[in-house]
Amino acid sequence: MARVYNFSAGPAVLPEEVLSRAGSEILDYQGSGMSVMEMSHRSKVFQGIIDKAEADIRTLMGIPENYKVLFLQGGDSLLFATTFINLAPHRKADFVITGNWAKKAYQEAQILGDPNVVASSADKNFTYIPDCSDLPIREDTDYLYICQNNTIYGTQYHTLPNTKGHTLVSDQSSMFLSEPVDVTKFGCIHAGVQKNVGPAGVQIVIVREDLIPDDLPGVPTMLRFKTQADKGSLYNTPNCWGIYMCGLVFQWLLENGGLAAMHEKNAEKAKILYDYLDASELFHPTVADTQSRSLMNVPFVTGDKDLDAEFVAQAAEAGLVNLKGHRTVGGMRASIYNAMPKAGVEALVNFMDGFERSHK
Ligand code: PMP
Repeated sequence: MARVYNFSAGPAVLPEEVLSRAGSEILDYQGSGMSVMEMSHRSKVFQGIIDKAEADIRTLMGIPENYKVLFLQGGDSLLFATTFINLAPHRKADFVITGNWAKKAYQEAQILGDPNVVASSADKNFTYIPDCSDLPIREDTDYLYICQNNTIYGTQYHTLPNTKGHTLVSDQSSMFLSEPVDVTKFGCIHAGVQKNVGPAGVQIVIVREDLIPDDLPGVPTMLRFKTQADKGSLYNTPNCWGIYMCGLVFQWLLENGGLAAMHEKNAEKAKILYDYLDASELFHPTVADTQSRSLMNVPFVTGDKDLDAEFVAQAAEAGLVNLKGHRTVGGMRASIYNAMPKAGVEALVNFMDGFERSHK
């Protein structure tokens, strides 16, 4: 077996211990005689799996009791619409546009109501996080929306916006569980798990209970947060296998020191890569503003498309895969999520250094 270092932005690398554990339980989950994939979501065994997953994520993130944790389906892209449908009773929300995913959330809100852009980093191709200390948030807005880590552009909020007393809604998909979070600062956090937490097909929503509307006339059942909140995410058949895998990752995180320890490791890995990029004469990070840099997604370029392609191809031959950048940025992108070991980042930097020397 030869595992590669997988720098994919998502679906992405998962901890080997978790994959091995899932493998060992694939035919017979803890004496049940069946795989989690074959199990009724109404069974006691699955209830135990989802209950433990919820308890463990509550411990990891310190989620207060007045917040609901929902395990949903439909893609994080569906949450661009459903956050607005559920959390904007006056059909007003204000958005900070820091890239494609924030823009898509804004565009969904445009279909449904009256959103407003209060800041944007489009002027510099989304290479920085705008100053959010004094945003022109509308007095009567329902919430302020941010995408906290911008997977494509490699930027991340390291300070939360001044919401001026308004509710904050955040897409944490590509930084979910990568560092400690003060959940009380948010009305709602949503994340697709396929980057840092599990296989594609599960989205986790952490939402303050009092924000969940009792009644939403004209809104289909499955689009209301209340439907799954009242039923423990089991109103209908959930992604049982995906939730089980997320649960194993939560356990792995708890066994490895929780989110503070993970943050320390992530900061160390990112520093190794950024330090190299800042010193390199061949490779350049696309995010120059050090205060805006993501610890999870690191885009970089040589400035020469052919050379970028040569690098990506040679790196793949050396077992460093999925380094091609997103088409809107070009160049390369290394996603270094929780499960990417420090050795993987070191191997990448060594390879880049060798490539640089051979192209002098
Ligand atoms: N938000 C962010 C920050 C993302 O990176 C992505 C996917 N790359 C999405 C939302 C959309 O997720 P999905 O594909 O699950 O709809």
